[in-house]
Amino acid sequence: MTDVPMVLAEKVSKNFGTNRVLRGISLEVARGQVLCIVGPSGSGKSTFLRCINHLERVDAGRLSIDGELVGYRQKGGKLYEQKLSEAALQRREIGMVFQRFNLFPHLTAMENITLAPIRVKGLSKAKATARANELLARVGLADKGDAYPAHLSGGQQQRVAIARALAMDPKLMLFDEPTSALDPELVGEVLEVMKELAKSGMTMVVVTHEMGFAREVADTLVFMDEGVVVEAGPPRQVLSNPQHGRTKEFLSKVL
Ligand code: ADP
Ligand code: MG
Repeated sequence: MTDVPMVLAEKVSKNFGTNRVLRGISLEVARGQVLCIVGPSGSGKSTFLRCINHLERVDAGRLSIDGELVGYRQKGGKLYEQKLSEAALQRREIGMVFQRFNLFPHLTAMENITLAPIRVKGLSKAKATARANELLARVGLADKGDAYPAHLSGGQQQRVAIARALAMDPKLMLFDEPTSALDPELVGEVLEVMKELAKSGMTMVVVTHEMGFAREVADTLVFMDEGVVVEAGPPRQVLSNPQHGRTKEFLSKVL
């Protein structure tokens, strides 16, 4: 099964009323690869990630994660809407990190990380705690388990959010502008953690404006505008030799 792509989008469309937000997105992310998505505000990047993570339902086209259709199941050649419990099982294997850190403010870093493994996966507290300690060390916060989010910097909170997502042992990680809300001096520490994660073989889809990160880490860079993939390719190629006017215009603003 290793040749099944981790993410396969085939002409994925999504409308909000008359607003055609995704207009036939087709792309593929192989296991262990990193796909970066860049594009202007409102182009549908977050909506696409939300479709991957079952937070939005696709209106047309097909979206599969690791060979399984998102939101639907196939039986006897027919498609049926997934039950909530089935969607939840699929979503459990996808970690998501948002622009805003979304940590539970009344829980410590440790409690934030162990909550889902204990409640959803049924891990013992001891096991969940041991794993959380490993993950805190991995994101450079070994001594911050007892800290509440309010006592952590934005960069530290975002690293806890990454550790929290990893605690569920996802096979795919989604990042939606994970450094956009950070003070500039805190961006690097979060990107470092993401780089290490990519190196470890995690499959990742990253919406970002950090072109240096995209150039260094992405296997494929996608430029999205108005709900379509305008251009996709190896980051060096897209960044240094964009083929489309819209890509050129966008890059001239962010590079
Ligand atoms: P991006 O992440 O590229 O900035 P989004 O995916 O957030 O773009 O938004 C794309 C378009 O979809 C925007 O026009 C936005 O207003 C619209 N949109 C996003 N989410 C919703 C929603 N839940 N309901 C209605 N419109 C939405
Ligand atoms: Mg967005």
